[in-house]
Amino acid sequence: MSYKHRITASIILAFIFFITMASCAPASRQSAGKIGVVVTVLPQVEFVSSIGGDRVSVSAMVPPGANPHTYEVTPAQMAGLSSARMYAKVGSPIEFELTWLDKLIAQNPGMLVVDCSKGIDLIQSTDPDEPGIDPHIWTSVRNVKVMVRNICDGLTRLDPVFTSYYEDNRDSYLRKLDALDADITASLEGIASRTFIVYHPAWGYFAHDYGLTQLGIEQEGKEPKAAYMARLIDEAKQKNIKVIFVSPQYDERSADAIAAEIGGKVVSIDAEGARDYLDNMRKVAQAFKEALK
Ligand SMILES: [Zn+2]
Repeated sequence: MSYKHRITASIILAFIFFITMASCAPASRQSAGKIGVVVTVLPQVEFVSSIGGDRVSVSAMVPPGANPHTYEVTPAQMAGLSSARMYAKVGSPIEFELTWLDKLIAQNPGMLVVDCSKGIDLIQSTDPDEPGIDPHIWTSVRNVKVMVRNICDGLTRLDPVFTSYYEDNRDSYLRKLDALDADITASLEGIASRTFIVYHPAWGYFAHDYGLTQLGIEQEGKEPKAAYMARLIDEAKQKNIKVIFVSPQYDERSADAIAAEIGGKVVSIDAEGARDYLDNMRKVAQAFKEALK
């Protein structure tokens, strides 16, 4: 190779190197620059990622299959919090947050803590043995509209340059929630039997929105006593209830026992561990429609 050719080759190589670096740099800057957002339960992941789009990276403290009333944070999760800029708490008195939130904030006091429940009317739990606030606010699609607004406010406070981006995303997700709410309302209209039985009573807000009555099997977060089981079985027979709902996070032998007694079946619906909120709620609504017809 002549001297001149070698020079040309070097220039070409340098050019290729430059192009490669130039195309890598924005990508790495972008992923490093994402706003780390931590949430408590998996359904919140879709709320945050729908508003934040590619500007955020979201993770849930309570992982798939875990129970948000008893889950314990791992040391790796604690350490991971140091890169978060926002914590979107559910804000209803859910045990995970009552136990852990102060410790999580102490780990990263600079995080913006957003209360998703701000502006939501909390309702009483249907567990007669454990009265108190029902923490599962996100089972109401109408509540989620408020949660999403609170999340959007938090993101615009952290990243005001992108306010219109977040607000457009918020409005488009709100339209999907409105459509979902209208569809569920229509599908449950005219159903005569409006009482349902569920092992873990996580559907109080859903029931409240659509004029349904929830009967929980669990007592104080545990398997029920025999007398209470007998009462539920009577009520189920009286109201001709044929479906017992359960959720994947709980071991619910009593649900099987009740279903056997009433000649009904057990159907699983997920209140706490579904990451795809809109899709999951459509499945849930379908399950309710089939169970209550
Ligand atoms: Zn729960």
